[in-house]
Amino acid sequence: MGRMQKILIPLLGLVLAVWFYSARENFKPEMLRGKRVIVTGASTGIGEQIAYHLARMGSHVLVTARTEAKLQKVVQRCLELGAASARFVSGTMEDTAFAQHVVREAQTSLGGLDMLILNHVGASYFGFFDGDVEHVRKLLEINFLSYVAMTTSALPMLKESEGSIVVVSSMAGKVGFPFTVPYSATKFALDGFFSSLRQEFSIQSINVSITLCILGFIDTERAVRAAAEVLRERPAPRDECALEILKGAALRRRELYYRYSSTRLPLLLRDCAAELLDYLVRSRYRLPAP
Ligand code: NAP
Repeated sequence: MGRMQKILIPLLGLVLAVWFYSARENFKPEMLRGKRVIVTGASTGIGEQIAYHLARMGSHVLVTARTEAKLQKVVQRCLELGAASARFVSGTMEDTAFAQHVVREAQTSLGGLDMLILNHVGASYFGFFDGDVEHVRKLLEINFLSYVAMTTSALPMLKESEGSIVVVSSMAGKVGFPFTVPYSATKFALDGFFSSLRQEFSIQSINVSITLCILGFIDTERAVRAAAEVLRERPAPRDECALEILKGAALRRRELYYRYSSTRLPLLLRDCAAELLDYLVRSRYRLPAP
């Protein structure tokens, strides 16, 4: 009996795992062909790569950020890569009216919206919390309130298309991180807002998916400049990260973890060994001796 159990239980687990994964839909680039997509923070970094992947898949792309010259180049490249159409709107997400203006632009120029990818992030510092409350307020406006404003404005169009909202967040939005206190606070706020909103969509049978993307260290210029010296781990490639975000979005996943090994796996410790997880997070940094 004991031996039977030793064989049967793992076998049953294996069968269930194979069934679970084979029943899941696979990603196909055609899923995004002809889709009307807004990508924020697309002048550089992960957002820029998301725009290029969408272009290769034949989507209509509307990109936004502050730097017009960079956005012009991104639009040009998107057209070369095969985008169904590409355009930009430049401005700052410090201003809620601008966030709403971008969504109106999608309405007028694309006639609707299938996917809203919220990815932009305001500049912050890397170091101990300096007590600057105004900086926290400004960062909340850029990294959080503008996400809320764009979602609110885009919701009628997304309900009509049964579309998707993609929220680019971070490990720092799931577990406390040192040296990025204001940034982490804005990312935790995103989880609270969008996870609660997903619950309400479910209650109201609103068929708009929300994918929260939990990213580890990615090799964008800003991140590498800020953290490569002090972080022990190697950054993951931004183009692969961008593609994984789009796969998760197209498959309407609730959360996307990239890379899985440095995000999802450590987070399994959060409820059963929180202090061990805190220690593991701290041990990622090369810290000077106290
Ligand atoms: P990035 O390279 O610094 O790009 C940020 C984008 O946001 C740029 O296009 C920037 O363009 C735009 N932006 C900045 N301030 C803005 C403002 N006030 N108004 C409008 N747009 C603004 O960032 P990234 O590394 O690609 O990160 C993208 C997302 O991934 C962020 O949400 C970030 O939190 C998340 N993430 C990144 C990492 C990482 O290691 N890279 C890790 C975890 C999570 P302009 O300057 O032209 O406005």
